[in-house]
Amino acid sequence: LAQLYGPLNMLGYLYRTINQSLVDTERLLKLLSEPTEINDKPDAPDLIVENGEIEFDNVNFSYDGRTTALEGVSFKVPKGSAVALVGESGAGKSTILRLLYRFYDLKEGDGRILIDGQDIRDVTQNSLRRAIGVVPQDPVLFNASIGYNIGYGKFGATQEEIVAAAKAAQIHDRIMSFPDGYETKVGERGIRLSGGEKQRVAIARTLLKDPPILLLDEATSALDTSTEKDIQKALQNLMQGRSSLSIAHRLSTIASADLIIVLKDGRIVEQGTHSELLALGGVFATMWADQVSSTDEAVSAHRKSAVV
Ligand code: ATP
Repeated sequence: LAQLYGPLNMLGYLYRTINQSLVDTERLLKLLSEPTEINDKPDAPDLIVENGEIEFDNVNFSYDGRTTALEGVSFKVPKGSAVALVGESGAGKSTILRLLYRFYDLKEGDGRILIDGQDIRDVTQNSLRRAIGVVPQDPVLFNASIGYNIGYGKFGATQEEIVAAAKAAQIHDRIMSFPDGYETKVGERGIRLSGGEKQRVAIARTLLKDPPILLLDEATSALDTSTEKDIQKALQNLMQGRSSLSIAHRLSTIASADLIIVLKDGRIVEQGTHSELLALGGVFATMWADQVSSTDEAVSAHRKSAVV
């Protein structure tokens, strides 16, 4: 029996790894009801990540072969840097993340996506997905304990590791406020967590997974100031030392990114740092001014309601 334990445990681990990446990415990437079949090339090698540098090289993509989702998209995410994608709805932000996760392969002649110089079409999907951590807008939690939901990120995670990840993700104190602590059941049949709490659970899970590359889809919904601060701190801890590509909605993320890419109708219309783009006085500067004024309005409305 003892001899069986190892292989069975491994099977459980594989099952959970695959299952987790499907559950999370399904949400993040808003998959079609029929997922597209991407096949590995015969004898495809595993991806070898040394720096976690990402490059989109003149990428064109269409979902239906008629309308353009991305056109001539080129950019780099240097080692350990944070790149934010901004742009109105339908601009192509999620498509970029879906392509990097290889839900679709680029056609010959439609450009290349490289990680540390390796074309992602040439490596195994498993190795690619092992290297990428995903924090979706609305993470899915299992009907299990909150400790299980975090520990899921790493096979054989110890309680100490789970607690350390929860602390770094700014969710430990909240967990300790539940009657059964880490044993508290969450999900439909347990305690319901808020969107911001679920996102921090996903961050803790990803910290345990410890991938060199991150895909983040920020929640669009407004968060109160203390939740916003907690999430920013959790994200800072997660993004430290990793290359990340985020769909950014919040001012704080956009301002602290190393590079901001502004998309419009599937094309990059501007790219640069926050101050460069503000100085340019173009699409981004207008978006920023709109967000700042709406945030000011929200803050003053909040203050007024607090006074009343
Ligand atoms: P949002 O902020 O609303 O999520 P986005 O910037 O992420 O938008 P994408 O989802 O990348 O935009 O969409 C880019 C283009 O591709 C849009 O024109 C969209 O209608 C189209 N598109 C997205 N997903 C599909 C799909 N599964 N099938 C066909 N077309 C799609």
